[in-house]
Amino acid sequence: MTNRRQFIRNASLAAATGVFAANSNLSAITLSANAKAKKSFGLQIYSLTVGEMRGDKEFSSNVPGGLKRVAAMGYTTLELAGYGFKDGVARIGAVPIAEFKKYADDAGLKIVSTHVNPPAREYTKENFESIKEFWKNAAEHHAAIGCKYLIQPGQPATRSTEEVSFVGEVFNEAGKIAKAAGLIFGYHNHSNEFDRVIPGGTDPISRCGGFGFGRQRPEGIKIIYDAMMEATDPALVQFENDVYWTVMGQQDPVAYMKKYANRIRILHIKDFAVLGESGAMNFQKIFETAYANGIKDFFVELEAVPAGTTQFEGVKGCADYLLNAKFVK
Ligand code: MG
Repeated sequence: MTNRRQFIRNASLAAATGVFAANSNLSAITLSANAKAKKSFGLQIYSLTVGEMRGDKEFSSNVPGGLKRVAAMGYTTLELAGYGFKDGVARIGAVPIAEFKKYADDAGLKIVSTHVNPPAREYTKENFESIKEFWKNAAEHHAAIGCKYLIQPGQPATRSTEEVSFVGEVFNEAGKIAKAAGLIFGYHNHSNEFDRVIPGGTDPISRCGGFGFGRQRPEGIKIIYDAMMEATDPALVQFENDVYWTVMGQQDPVAYMKKYANRIRILHIKDFAVLGESGAMNFQKIFETAYANGIKDFFVELEAVPAGTTQFEGVKGCADYLLNAKFVK
């Protein structure tokens, strides 16, 4: 997790390279009821369950009521998190998945996506079959509730170019399994995907290291995220770009969206805390580029909230920002 000081350092670095908006303060724009009715954006429900780590049980104590509150804020879709299998039943957190779907329907929220991690972080020839088996079950359980995307949010071990290639093979298999069940497999990044790998490497090379005066650039060096793009089949694997973590990786999400317009098809709309408050993310440019690329699925994600506020308040603050922003359709 990036601390605040690191965030500010990254933010000023990106500002110097023109990644950020000159002024993203939108507080003066008045909310119009008309704009409110037309907009379409979703919520990654981790934004609510993450509060439980601090003892905030507001969501899990009343999931149906919580989802209704989310819909009333202006969210139209959901991306699930917390998939598991217990007592013979697929679940989202403690709630059986079919029941969760009913609660979402009752609230008027469409479940579009889900975050699911296979049980291994190291991919090997030995565990390949068990990973495939995991994806078959996950695909089946999510197809049953009409979900569109099956997204892996956790980074597998990628210490060398060869390891990234093997991860690509596993992702392609997951893509085939998802496709057979009527879903689309995708991968969600954090910041470490913007480290580099080399052939035969034993550890990723930090994105913070430079190759300036007097330092030789290693042969075959690649950004892991780019290597993942190359190692995966566009017909089987899409990418959900987390714009905040891309900036934390010291890269420009807009440049990535333009470079991989047919691969990045979903976005995580995230800031240091409540959207827009840091002034460091160029959401206008991000949304403009996304619409130009035909991206339709956006999910707000909120981790940190200011002391003394609840996750629900933060999630509402994010919705208000998007409802107020003229560049959000
Ligand atoms: Mg995210």
